[in-house]
Amino acid sequence: MKSILVTGGCGFIGSHTVLALLQAGFNVCVIDNLYNSSYESLKRVQKLAGKKTDFHQIDLRDKEKLKSLFDQSRFDAVVHFAGLKAVGESMEKPLLYYSNNVYGTINLCEVMKGAGVFDIVFSSSATVYGNPERSPISEDQRLGAVNPYGQTKLIIEEMLRDLHRSDPQWNTALLRYFNPVGAHKSGEIGEDPNGIPNNLMPFVSQVAVGKLDELKVFGNDYPTRDGTGIRDYIHVSDLANGHLKALKKLAENPGIVTYNLGTGKGATVLEVIHAFEQASNVKIPYKIAPRRPGDAAVTYADSAKAEKELGWKAERDLETMCRDAWNWQSKNPQGYDS
Ligand code: NAD
Ligand code: UDP
Repeated sequence: MKSILVTGGCGFIGSHTVLALLQAGFNVCVIDNLYNSSYESLKRVQKLAGKKTDFHQIDLRDKEKLKSLFDQSRFDAVVHFAGLKAVGESMEKPLLYYSNNVYGTINLCEVMKGAGVFDIVFSSSATVYGNPERSPISEDQRLGAVNPYGQTKLIIEEMLRDLHRSDPQWNTALLRYFNPVGAHKSGEIGEDPNGIPNNLMPFVSQVAVGKLDELKVFGNDYPTRDGTGIRDYIHVSDLANGHLKALKKLAENPGIVTYNLGTGKGATVLEVIHAFEQASNVKIPYKIAPRRPGDAAVTYADSAKAEKELGWKAERDLETMCRDAWNWQSKNPQGYDS
């Protein structure tokens, strides 16, 4: 049985992936500093899986603690989610983002190397394409970040590429997620953002549940079918499965690989609102507001490479994403504090 270390495993995508790993028979150890999550998510994951995980509250920047964990335990691979992800905050506090995301990953890689662990799956993001030239976006499209958060993802990708060049023992999967949404179908785990959500789907869910009054639709004058922005929303459980496929790929066919994880289909903001209304049977009040600075009109993935090389394809549609997001939100109106 393989042993996987999951960094950031109490967070939104991490918790769903830990569940998928446990259900697939892996031994899982989670580290998280709980900056943007709570241990409650992992408690629920263990209950759903009927299996235990090991948990250590460790900050990736604390190299001594990381090292002593690797001294005590043997891992076959690391799935590395831990990082800060708020674009606006990264513009206000760039040093925090470089320190947490880049320095944290340097520490992790140094400790992995010292322990002879060379398999890593890294959470990258479609943000590395900046304002994309065209959609669908394939992995070879021009890269360029437009904010410090995106820069940290680009730097880490480059660093992992350099590491592999310097020592081909490193086995690396760079997974570029598009817009992760939804929740596990049980409604026991889901997205629990701190404060007012920045992203569309959690904002819509919180309007539906009555925590927020009204959604602002950022721009209806884009060159799209209804004037609102198009994104590639992907169900978090599909994303979790992508990590299992990536681990399999690294074990069978070592090297460094990069994949887009998206559905290949774009939905407009108004389409998301309407799908959510259908799924929840709740009217979502919204008003049209100015464009959000920096937003691209259209972003969606070409995920053909992941399908061909990983045998992975997103299975859940927008209706399922909205239904599962609503199931989680309505069962847990205050998130994990409910
Ligand atoms: P999240 O905030 O829910 O999870 C990240 C977890 O990492 C949190 O539990 C947090 O407490 C932990 N963490 C952060 N810094 C840490 C540190 N220094 N040491 C230990 N733990 C630390 O975010 P998520 O949505 O689950 O995202 C997971 C990863 O995927 C992140 O790297 C994020 O940048 C990336 N990503 C997310 C999205 C998205 O829209 N959710 C899109 C693309 C990429
Ligand atoms: N959006 C919106 N209102 C909100 C949040 C987002 O209209 O309160 C729009 C945003 O302009 C974009 C889409 O919803 O077109 C997805 O935004 P999100 O922040 O979720 O993802 P990202 O833009 O980072 O891909």
